[in-house]
Amino acid sequence: MGHEYCGVVEEVGSAVKAVKPGQFVIGSFCISDNTCPNCEAGYQSGCQNLEFMSRAQAPVLRVPFADGTLVATPELPSDDIIPSLLTISDVLGTGWFAADAANVKPGSTVVVVGDGAVGLLGVLSEKLMGAERIIAMSRNEKRQHLAKEFGATDIVTERGNDGAARVKDLTRGIGADSVLECVGTEESMMQAIQSTRPGGSIGYVGVPHGLKLDMWPVFFHLVRLHGGPAPVRRFLPDLIKLVWDRKIEPGKVFDLVLPLELVAEGYRAMDERRAIKALLRH
Ligand SMILES: [Zn+2]
Repeated sequence: MGHEYCGVVEEVGSAVKAVKPGQFVIGSFCISDNTCPNCEAGYQSGCQNLEFMSRAQAPVLRVPFADGTLVATPELPSDDIIPSLLTISDVLGTGWFAADAANVKPGSTVVVVGDGAVGLLGVLSEKLMGAERIIAMSRNEKRQHLAKEFGATDIVTERGNDGAARVKDLTRGIGADSVLECVGTEESMMQAIQSTRPGGSIGYVGVPHGLKLDMWPVFFHLVRLHGGPAPVRRFLPDLIKLVWDRKIEPGKVFDLVLPLELVAEGYRAMDERRAIKALLRH
């Protein structure tokens, strides 16, 4: 889609006050004014002037509502943290929102459904929020390894009903306090609902594809559901600080770096699950 981006400002419009040429900036994949009531409430992905960013796989990008969308780093970053800064634009911002929406608290038992970049960075987010037990669901050895590096304490390889049953086994038959749904299919959503304890919360950030939600299990499992496109802009300053201070290294999700011209190969590698996440450089 090309909606994740960071880079150096070349030029700004006459009304732009918060960023200036020469600064390194990171933007949300949602364009927001950051001044309307929805933005003020922390839901910039529901902004009254919302647009979704695309076309970022380009040497130069125009960002509307720059003041409300972009946040600059304190100085120009060193090369080694640029991948981590880029993750904030979507995959980390989204994983963080999933954990926030699922009400992850210190000492929580949590589950992550989905082992893509968002799910893996959901694990990292939960760890930072103080979760004690983090159960990651993955069948892929490389991703399991990264999940553990980010803080996962348990790995579940089963899917669907079997996966949820395994979570119940691991939680004395209760289920998890918080579950992050980072896939967007009916199977993954049902797995999330069945893995959650009564009164627990699900943060869902997987873009729904072919998902029709049966309210029966939602009703009887007594779960809270909150999710949608992440209001990344809300989290940009804090996440930039965490990367800047080298407290986290979310850029580890990039296991393939390509020049901008080879964008199609990047998609192929991710589609065939040869790569977790490809980074394009200009
Ligand atoms: Zn707004």
